[in-house]
Amino acid sequence: NLAPSASSLAEAQHVLEDVFGYKAFRLHQAGIIETLLSGGDVLALMPTGGGKSLCYQIPALVRAGTGLVVSPLIALMQDQVDALREAGVRAAFLNSSQDWREQAAIEQSLIAGDLDLLYVAPERLVQERTLSLLERASIALFAIDEAHCVSQWGHDFRPEYRQLRILAERFPRVPRIALTATADDRTRDEIARELSLERAHRFVASFDRPNIRYTIAEMGSMSARERLWSFLSAEHPADAGIVYCLSRKSVEETADWLNRKGRPALAYHAGLPPELRREHQARFLKEDGIVMVATIAFGMGIDKPDVRFVAHLNLPRSLEAYYQETGRAGRDGEPANAWLAYGMQDIVQQKHWINASEGSDAYKRTQSQKLDALVGLCETTSCRRQLILAYFSETRAEPCGNCDNCLNPPQTTDGTELARKALSAVYRTEQRFGVGYLIDVLTGKDNERAIRNSHDRLSVWGIGKTEDAAVWRSLFRQLVARGLLVTDDEGHGTLALTEEARPLLRGEETFRMRLAPAREKKSREKRAS
Ligand code: ADP
Ligand code: ZN
Repeated sequence: NLAPSASSLAEAQHVLEDVFGYKAFRLHQAGIIETLLSGGDVLALMPTGGGKSLCYQIPALVRAGTGLVVSPLIALMQDQVDALREAGVRAAFLNSSQDWREQAAIEQSLIAGDLDLLYVAPERLVQERTLSLLERASIALFAIDEAHCVSQWGHDFRPEYRQLRILAERFPRVPRIALTATADDRTRDEIARELSLERAHRFVASFDRPNIRYTIAEMGSMSARERLWSFLSAEHPADAGIVYCLSRKSVEETADWLNRKGRPALAYHAGLPPELRREHQARFLKEDGIVMVATIAFGMGIDKPDVRFVAHLNLPRSLEAYYQETGRAGRDGEPANAWLAYGMQDIVQQKHWINASEGSDAYKRTQSQKLDALVGLCETTSCRRQLILAYFSETRAEPCGNCDNCLNPPQTTDGTELARKALSAVYRTEQRFGVGYLIDVLTGKDNERAIRNSHDRLSVWGIGKTEDAAVWRSLFRQLVARGLLVTDDEGHGTLALTEEARPLLRGEETFRMRLAPAREKKSREKRAS
């Protein structure tokens, strides 16, 4: 590879100042730009808000020819192009929202060399017609944004992305850069492999988002919605934010519920008509203090800097998905909250979906591991940020001081006895029941089904009367999170023992358990009111 000339580096600095109005490059921007200017390929992993766009926009301006940007979201192209044009950049996009006349005009300016940047959807780019058009033009570079869409294990998989490897074959001399804000090691390698970027220079920025405070609430006696309400009233009475729900139905119900309580909220999911989705998105971006209640259909690439919170009313699919969704908060660097409430039902549901999916066994295993990593994050008693960063292969020496576990270290206690009782209840009832039933057995609660099953005659019947249901529920979750129990594949919530449970049952191991905060919190709230 040729080194970029000193003059092109100086030019990059000028463009940074004159076109974009910034004084200095951020970490990795200069290195990435330098690599592209010298004709090298790049795989850039930088968190949301890290400044990925400049990494390809500036070299596109400095190098001869047009920079081609592949972006999965047609809706976003318009905004990006508008912003660039305002800065005096000759930018355009090509997509199906334009009539053929507009498209022809843009194709002509591409051939004439009148464009600095051209945004295209992946399915459009890989069409033979587009490829031969590009061969007649002068191309400065290819930028593949949201490159994790190439990962079939990922939550944003787009099959068209896999076809983008053709760019390496058809344009071997044009530098390429793939960018993403989320990728664990496996996904990184998959991106490199699928896009023929094995030999690209990798730039990995820290994934830490220090201004985001992570809080993960156990579902106690209060419903998730009531918990959400106390979180919103206490921390964000008038801020804009996103509330994620799993189903379209609960999106609509939660939005209605917030509106009835006097909180302006809008719904967003794939089942709404496109015009309404666009209108809601536009209002969320423009108006102050709107709560967007949405499924994960909402969010990728939404560039609203002052989203002050992202709340999850259900468990996301993986730690990566959680990281990416919460990453939409606080892009402006100001303090923001990531808040999640979850219960055992979420784990059961997700496991069921994984097993009901069409994927191969390997696929299901991977998804299941990704979910387990998230459950582990939920149940950890140590710093959440350290765990999140560790998942992205980043070591952080000190606890962060800005997550719930750092701010309010959870109380732990010797839970060996209780854990043994819980595991015994699972075993004695032949590993055929879910948490609710098991708790009834442990607490000896009148239960027709239990009596019909003669479970009231078991030695475990009522041996857990000392604790209330919330404690047991929390303990069962911790046992699942630490792999001593597993839920079934069919979504019934049936719990079974694993090998990991043996040493504890045999008395060879002890079990530290986190105290269920329910009782403690309730009394705190009573005191406060
Ligand atoms: P990403 O795509 O990584 O989420 P963006 O490219 O949208 O991030 O950049 C996030 C914000 O940071 C934008 O407002 C951008 O203008 C700003 N930014 C990028 N690079 C710099 C820089 N070198 N100096 C100051 N601000 C920058
Ligand atoms: Zn922490």
